Amino acid sequence: MENTIKQMEQYAKKNNIPIMEHEGIEFLATYIKNHEVKTILELGSAIGYSAIQMARINKDIHVVTVERDEKRYQEALKNLKTTKLEEQVDIYLADALTFSTDQKYDLIFIDAAKAQYIKFFERYKKNLKDDGVIISDNLKFHGMVDTQERIKNRNTRQLVNKIKKYIYFLEDNDEFSTSFYDIGDGIAISKRK
Ligand code: SAH
Ligand code: MG
Repeated sequence: MENTIKQMEQYAKKNNIPIMEHEGIEFLATYIKNHEVKTILELGSAIGYSAIQMARINKDIHVVTVERDEKRYQEALKNLKTTKLEEQVDIYLADALTFSTDQKYDLIFIDAAKAQYIKFFERYKKNLKDDGVIISDNLKFHGMVDTQERIKNRNTRQLVNKIKKYIYFLEDNDEFSTSFYDIGDGIAISKRK
């Protein structure tokens, strides 16, 4: 297991795949343990790294995870086999903007396209148990959200704007209250009011 995890980290680095940082994973794992989270919906599997890190916490945890990139999806399938977690993790090759599930989850982890976070939140909040939480990753976007004036690239600036909009959306939400954590690349936890 530890070896496979290391190999995944190396693969991600080499191929520029933005998997979660150690600090973020640790934070997520602590939350899952403390709140006895059992069912998880993850948007954005990439190569399965965070799904595997969550599923391996204990045998009762079940993860449904969605990835739209075929190559990453195949890589994730391979990693799930190697870690023998195929039964605990169901991965779908699909676009999270159109994917749907009837199930209700203890935790929804939003980690797909940063420009679409409001859409993901609105689409999947009905799949959250009453006492469940929505956790969003990368709200600092590699530190760029706080240093926006210095960003030269137009696309990056637009993306950072979208993340800011998402932060306002969470701060100003009638249904959910959100805590923001300066951990990893910036994490938010939203709960029903
Ligand atoms: N959660 C992973 C990292 C995910 S990186 C980890 O920490 O290990 C974000 C992933 O979201 C990318 O692989 C990208 O292909 C995927 N993605 C982006 N938009 C998506 C969408 N609309 N539907 C499904 N996957 C999406
Ligand atoms: Mg992330």
